[in-house]
Amino acid sequence: MYHGSQGGWIEVIAGVMFSGKSEELIRRVRRATIARKQVQVFKSQLDDRYSTQAAVASHDGATLEALSIAKATDVMRHLRTDSEVIAVDEVQFLDEGIVGVATELAATGHRVILAGTETDFRGEPFAAMPVLMAIAETVDKLYAICVVCGDPACRNQRLVDRRPAPYDSPTILVGGLETYEARCRHCHEVPGVAAGQTQLFQDQHS
Ligand code: ADP
Ligand code: ZN
Repeated sequence: MYHGSQGGWIEVIAGVMFSGKSEELIRRVRRATIARKQVQVFKSQLDDRYSTQAAVASHDGATLEALSIAKATDVMRHLRTDSEVIAVDEVQFLDEGIVGVATELAATGHRVILAGTETDFRGEPFAAMPVLMAIAETVDKLYAICVVCGDPACRNQRLVDRRPAPYDSPTILVGGLETYEARCRHCHEVPGVAAGQTQLFQDQHS
């Protein structure tokens, strides 16, 4: 773990779905609690209009109590004066305000742990994640296992009716019937865009 002589830094846990981000966040929070730190855990909730109790849950069943939030500034609204460690899961669903919130928390001596998926279903940078990865003291990029070929997986494959979702479908679907699989770059399918020719590629070559 990073440990500067002055308190206050940002740790990012990045990776695709099933890569173990929640497991890792839960592990860090448990260890901070054992060290008798005051910890607050938040989780972004897309369709919740009000803050409610929720849980950070990993795909293998571990859970941790968390407060569900809709906006980045909700973290500051619920911040306790004695909190030392702030953990936020599913950061990719929060607005860009999370960059300022994390920066302010780190500047005021908090250890900030942020977990999120850094690419959307198209394989492109997701919301504030790339900026958070740039400004963090530590970044751990985790991989799942590609369900097609067994290689390390770094892409979220969105499926609708078991078929790959097209490039132009929305980045975030609320309450949709889609499912996701972890896949590697080579098994990742995004109909409607030629291999490698994402918007990112086009922006840089136009
Ligand atoms: P994340 O928060 O990144 O979605 P979780 O911590 O919730 O990840 O879940 C990780 C767990 O998911 C793994 O320990 C494993 O038990 C399970 N799992 C299911 N499918 C896969 C997969 N394709 N690759 C790796 N782990 C998987
Ligand atoms: Zn693969």
